Amino acid sequence: MEISTTRSQELKTKPGDDRLGFGSIFTDYMFNMDYDPQNGWHNPRIEPYSPFVMDPATMFLHYGQGVFEGLKAYRTESGQIQLFRPRENISRLNRSCRRLCIPEIDEKFALDAMKKLIELEKDWVPAAPETSLYIRPTVIATDPFLGVRASNTYRYFIILSPVGAYYPEGFNPIKILVTSDYVRAVRGGIGEAKTPGNYAASLLAGEEAHKAGYTQVLWLDGVEQKYLEEVGSMNIFFVIGDEIVTPELNGSILPGITRKSVIELAKHWNEKVSERKITIDELMQAHADDSLKEVFGAGTAAVISPVGHIKYGEREITVNDNQTGPVAMKYYRAITNIQYGKAEDPLGWIEVVT
Ligand SMILES: *Cc1c(COP(=O)(O)O)cnc(C)c1O
Repeated sequence: MEISTTRSQELKTKPGDDRLGFGSIFTDYMFNMDYDPQNGWHNPRIEPYSPFVMDPATMFLHYGQGVFEGLKAYRTESGQIQLFRPRENISRLNRSCRRLCIPEIDEKFALDAMKKLIELEKDWVPAAPETSLYIRPTVIATDPFLGVRASNTYRYFIILSPVGAYYPEGFNPIKILVTSDYVRAVRGGIGEAKTPGNYAASLLAGEEAHKAGYTQVLWLDGVEQKYLEEVGSMNIFFVIGDEIVTPELNGSILPGITRKSVIELAKHWNEKVSERKITIDELMQAHADDSLKEVFGAGTAAVISPVGHIKYGEREITVNDNQTGPVAMKYYRAITNIQYGKAEDPLGWIEVVT
């Protein structure tokens, strides 16, 4: 399929790299493509970034049939623009599509389309340390219909947003709250799909955690409320003794690409890493007997996010003296150095755009 491009009459003024923040500034162009049963995915096009006109009965608005992805483009010191494991995001997008009854997108085409949009927008990839261009591919159901069934028509779009450094003042360990009042997802549900409903389900718990002074919620499994699952919109890692532990994928945990990268790097370095079940009681016990060395989250936005305090019921534990530990630091450095082209790419994770 040919991707057409409609040029914008007027380009936006780009903000300074020191005023980017996250997710509120958008570039000049977006990618759009439509699906209907007769034509399949068709009419791929790059157009000026602009609002959608939608029928108020659009199915996505009522029943949340939609999926999304999040990844970043990075500018290296030599000015090259590159992506980190984009094929993983595209294949996860299709796995999410399958779970939500959305027709899949050809993966090679999706990567080419993403690269073409980013190449056109390459001047929007910021250059200051730890800044990047966030990429948000999204699919929504577009039938104007109030009956409950899978839509017949869809829109796939990609928007781009330059984002600032996640840690402008350096790594600060976060405080997290283990909630027993709410669950994010259950096995057999939609927890392993990147779909808006999971976020909607998490908002109230997140607000209550904020009010109590915590940055994120650490989710327990939805059935027994006993096994650790993930934190906010990140996967979670524990360093217990000399073992790096992360909850095994069980159908309700989102299979993060940062998570996968930490595991693969650990194996590459011959470190002891386990994907296994871990209970909140084991975590508390490991703290009590001093074998809990570090806790950190892993996700595209922050890469690695050290955890300094965990509250569960009446107990609050402090991890590693509320300092960023050596393991979190090592993985943060290793992954960001690959992303920004400052280190070798031993596992073939980089995809050059231009
Ligand atoms: C996106 C996401 C993650 C992290 O995935 P990455 O691919 O590493 O960015 C973790 N948990 C949830 C719920 C997510 O939506």
